[in-house]
Amino acid sequence: MDKIKMITPLVEIDGDEMTRIIWKQIKEMLLEPYIELNTEYYDLGLENRDKTDDQVTVDAANAIKKYGVGVKCATITPNVQRMDEYHLKKMWKSPNGTIRAILDGTVFRSPIVIDKIKPVVKNWEKPITIARHAYGDVYRGTEMRIEGKGKAELVFTAEDGTETRALVYDFEGPGVLQGTHNKDKSIESFAHSCFQYALSAKQDLWFSTKDTISKTYDGEFKAIFERIYNESYKEAFEKAGITYFYTLIDDAVARVIRSNGGFIWACKNYDGDVMSDMISTAFGSLAMMTSVLVSPDGNYEYEAAHGTVTRHYYRYLKGEETSTNPVATIYAWTGALKKNGEKDQNQALISFAEKLEKAVITSLENGYCTKDLAGLYEGIEPTPLNTAAFLAKVRETLDA
Ligand code: NAP
Ligand code: MG
Repeated sequence: MDKIKMITPLVEIDGDEMTRIIWKQIKEMLLEPYIELNTEYYDLGLENRDKTDDQVTVDAANAIKKYGVGVKCATITPNVQRMDEYHLKKMWKSPNGTIRAILDGTVFRSPIVIDKIKPVVKNWEKPITIARHAYGDVYRGTEMRIEGKGKAELVFTAEDGTETRALVYDFEGPGVLQGTHNKDKSIESFAHSCFQYALSAKQDLWFSTKDTISKTYDGEFKAIFERIYNESYKEAFEKAGITYFYTLIDDAVARVIRSNGGFIWACKNYDGDVMSDMISTAFGSLAMMTSVLVSPDGNYEYEAAHGTVTRHYYRYLKGEETSTNPVATIYAWTGALKKNGEKDQNQALISFAEKLEKAVITSLENGYCTKDLAGLYEGIEPTPLNTAAFLAKVRETLDA
């Protein structure tokens, strides 16, 4: 059988620990036998980030800008303990943060659902996708501990020196204080990414904030979404038979629980952080959550939503058998291959990626799974396997 050819290179970003092991297994067992992989490889393993003074992360992000599509393995974000473990020169920043800052985008997270594992919320028939704004708010906040009586003010100094002031609080005793910001430009690109993603997924888009309380800050998010929708997407949405719907975050939470799923829920940075963990857990497992960063100029970076699964890696290093779930990492690859195929009009590649996803789902539906899922099945007795045996099962199903 001839191997499938690729036209534009795919940016391949390798990572750390258990997911680095799985990365190699997926390539060897499920991709390379069928595809003549054309990738531009960037090694974001912590050792190489340290060796290159993190330049490799910047290069990888720029390569995604150049070629349009990337696939990323999970990576360690170093902390004090990792500094010692890897003898690092510096506590390098989160690679995801660096890549997001360069691509400027929105992170979309969707659960991979199978019939035999029911979500905790029984009426969720279809997956719910979270679209998380990835810039600003408390993640770029400035905080202060107030030790006693005094006046806290917001001061904005314009370029010409003019000051605008607003009283935050006249403290009568100790307390805490926080300043956060966002930019029209970032909110606008968040809105464009959400509308475009909804159109390509042919699903309704919901957006929620707390604009009744935060009239200026959250009010601006609401206004920007509304303006961009009316200016650029209303017609296309009507033609596609999908809707854009704004509601308050507390109303959204109640509606999401009562819904049947099958829509995209756009959230501000913090809401998206919290709600995506709630959604993935309620659908089954963090190891079954896909994640894609979409930039406003149409670049895509696919990854799994989970980390490097350190606890399993330490067991693997001791020679113990591990049963780490590779499904979200396989989906990062299939998502990236499909998008690469779409951009190049490479139908053979798109079809292969779809078949591979189907082989994963079929294997899972037949009860073949990793240990994390074994306790969640309903109606059948599952067969828990180690990672390599699960991948072999997927390959057998794919070949069949
Ligand atoms: P994690 O790697 O997601 O793992 C947390 C726990 O979740 C695991 O110990 C495991 O539970 C379970 N789990 C996660 N993925 C799984 C999978 N594929 N199969 C089976 N079980 C899975 O998070 P973490 O331990 O907090 O972080 C580890 C490292 O990953 C850190 O260095 C962090 O910086 C990095 N990280 C990277 C990314 C990214 O690159 N996108 C995201 C998050 C964290 P059990 O041990 O109970 O089996
Ligand atoms: Mg989180």
